[in-house]
Amino acid sequence: MSQHTPMIQQYLQIKEQYTDAFLFFRLGDFYEMFFEDAVNASSILEITLTSRDSGAKDRIPMCGIPYHSATGYIETLIQNGHKVAICEQMEDPRSVKGIVKREVVKVITPGTLTEGKTIDTEANHFIGAIDSLGDQRFALAYLDVGTGEGKVELIEGTERSLLAEIESLGMKEIVVDQTLHLTLHEMFENREIMLSIEDAEQNASIAKDTYGHLPNELQEACNKLQSYLMRMQKMVFGHIRPFVYIEKDAKLSIDANSMRNLELVQTIRSGKKEGTLFWVLDETVTAMGARKLRMWIHQPLAQRKAIEERLETVSNLVDEFFLREELVEELKNVYDLERLAGRISMGSATARDLAQLRNSLTHIPKLQKILSESKRPMLQQIADKMDPCEDTYQLLADAIAENPPLTSKEGGLIKDGYNEKLDQLRDASRNGKSWLAQLEQKERQATGIKTLKIGYNRIFGYYIEITKSNVHLADLTRYERKQTLANAERYITTELKEKEELILNAEADGQILETNLFLAIREQVKEEVQRIQKLATVVSELDVLLAFAVVSERNRYIRPEFHDGRALDIQNGRHPVVEKMMNHSLYIPNSCELADYSNMLLITGPNMSGKSTFMRQVALTVVMAQIGCFVPCEKAVLPITDQIFTRIGAADDVASGQSTFMMEMMESQYALAHATSRSLLLFDEIGRGTSTYDGMALAQAMMEHIHEQVGANTLFSTHYHELTKLEDVLARLLNVHVAAKEQNGKVVFLHKVLPGAADRSYGIHVAELAGLPAELVERAKKLLQRFEEESAANESTSVSEQLALFDTSIESATSLEQQKLLDEIKAADVLNMTPLQAMQKIA
Ligand code: ADP
Repeated sequence: MSQHTPMIQQYLQIKEQYTDAFLFFRLGDFYEMFFEDAVNASSILEITLTSRDSGAKDRIPMCGIPYHSATGYIETLIQNGHKVAICEQMEDPRSVKGIVKREVVKVITPGTLTEGKTIDTEANHFIGAIDSLGDQRFALAYLDVGTGEGKVELIEGTERSLLAEIESLGMKEIVVDQTLHLTLHEMFENREIMLSIEDAEQNASIAKDTYGHLPNELQEACNKLQSYLMRMQKMVFGHIRPFVYIEKDAKLSIDANSMRNLELVQTIRSGKKEGTLFWVLDETVTAMGARKLRMWIHQPLAQRKAIEERLETVSNLVDEFFLREELVEELKNVYDLERLAGRISMGSATARDLAQLRNSLTHIPKLQKILSESKRPMLQQIADKMDPCEDTYQLLADAIAENPPLTSKEGGLIKDGYNEKLDQLRDASRNGKSWLAQLEQKERQATGIKTLKIGYNRIFGYYIEITKSNVHLADLTRYERKQTLANAERYITTELKEKEELILNAEADGQILETNLFLAIREQVKEEVQRIQKLATVVSELDVLLAFAVVSERNRYIRPEFHDGRALDIQNGRHPVVEKMMNHSLYIPNSCELADYSNMLLITGPNMSGKSTFMRQVALTVVMAQIGCFVPCEKAVLPITDQIFTRIGAADDVASGQSTFMMEMMESQYALAHATSRSLLLFDEIGRGTSTYDGMALAQAMMEHIHEQVGANTLFSTHYHELTKLEDVLARLLNVHVAAKEQNGKVVFLHKVLPGAADRSYGIHVAELAGLPAELVERAKKLLQRFEEESAANESTSVSEQLALFDTSIESATSLEQQKLLDEIKAADVLNMTPLQAMQKIA
């Protein structure tokens, strides 16, 4: 190292502490990168790689970016899964000899990036921390640095459950200790989730009583997260709110797969918002409202009282058309208070941000007035909860300019009349010229010299010039000679110099004073950040509830009723997204009735008849009801559902490299392991991914397992017609089918769910209509008849016996591979396995 120049030595010393980040090393107006960082960054950022003399024998690689355009480059590196350490000059280079002191002022990571072009303000951006509690229990703390919202929950289950929750919340970065890092890194890094390490000794300095309101075992995860953030961001944020404990039974949990399958916030295909439940419901007017709605969809409620409260408010709002319009008009003028509060607290708020805060606050009393005059109890309650933050408003109204510029350089941040000194300075620079004219006038009168004039040059500044012929009239008690010209003398006076100083420095001083005033105001507002956040919560919730009311009325949704039992009754329900996409009047409504004595439906019907739409519509109705929205049907009496699990085809999980069938089995496993009798299960075409008997066997075993062991409300769709016989065996299973009919030589899908099993020959009809050769169709009809006869002949044998998995020829397995498999199966201790374990073995 000693062969390097002192600056490169300094670089290497700092870099040593940030080996996992790109080090942006400030050199004048540039951030420079050296060595490997330079090589890698230049290729990711597509910037030129150069080299530089380092004192050592070889030149070293280097690349740089101008500091003022760094944001975009930083974002690109972060989006590519890297961290960036920002190293600044801590002294003015002009005032030191030798090497300027440099320090890393913050490290930006995927989980802490809160601003930028790629940041969707309609979503929260959480960074998480996990603490393992043993026995397959984990504490998961997470927090949005941009808004300060923090939550913590207890996850019971395998690492996969943990990953499911993390993915469902869209986290990009998780903080763990060394031990957890070892167990988790492969699984997480496959999913492009960064694991960052924070060890116990690193967070020893954090006060342990910060989270007194939380159960003991959840503290460590919160500590870990807080301490990591402090280490990365090098400061304590005032806007980080106390972690809220999300109790498991307080919310309806939907794992990441189900979240995706049901297209709640993103479509499966494009990952876009359009075509999702979020899209249908998002009539919010503020960005924080949209974010809140997204979060509510992620974590619907599971407590009746809380749900009823939201529904009651929506109901109040539905009844008040004009009031709703008025509220929306006011809300349109409210900016993203949460993110403004975040920026204020992180010290990155501009004068424009403060102006936005002020402008937003103007509308709070108006909102309150509209709400409290409504005479509706729920709306009055909201008005009471709103805190207009008057002091902050007054301060900003008095101090911050009407339309401040984006940057602070040109001044113009502070209003006239706020600060006397600033007013004087501004006055000085604005009125400098007329002042001088007045002074000239005064001096002419005092001396009687008509040709006396005031001029300016760089060396002497302002001066009074008197021609040689009048020099004798100059008042030498006040005039001090500065310069002699051929035909004139130049003088200065104390008054002139005072004014000169005022004029020349006014602008510069004004800007400095303005900046200081602005910073002081920002500090003062920072004290009130928590009040602003509370207000933001109330306003954003109002925004979401208003959206529910607007959407409910427009789409003819009705208020759902809840009861404490498990029965589910949806009369003439619709799929909110499909109905919106197609034209409401064309959608065929369908009812779904699940009772304690029949809470499993087996749905058959030809492809494209609407099986999966029907299943999804039931799940979406449950979600909508439990976030407190009205629902698309004529009547809904619902249980409180604790979890929703789906196993729905099409979402091949390419990223994880699992085969579709393995994925299907893993999703099923996850559902069966976690479901309770209060859960809702959707199984679409289970077993499609394997051979017929295999698939049928699995499907049947799963239905039996759910029927016997789980007892959850279940919708099961299948194209294995044979399974419809299970209705006779499983008491709580009911066959339904989605009807289709033939009309003028065309298949018409009626999309109507009717009792009983589907007619099994529909496939052949469809083939016929599709124009397959007549003799082929005839042959198929004959074969079908034969299969049916065979199956009738076997009717006496039970369903399960028909579905032999292996034919006897496997006994004479020839290949080594086959023999090994056979041995393994024979060795399995079947009597001591649950059906589920057996399934896993087979899979
Ligand atoms: P399946 O699961 O039986 O193959 P889908 O549920 O995917 O069928 O439905 C196929 C298409 O039929 C959907 O994309 C939708 O356009 C239409 N559809 C489904 N259900 C209805 C309905 N109740 N009313 C009107 N159209 C429907």
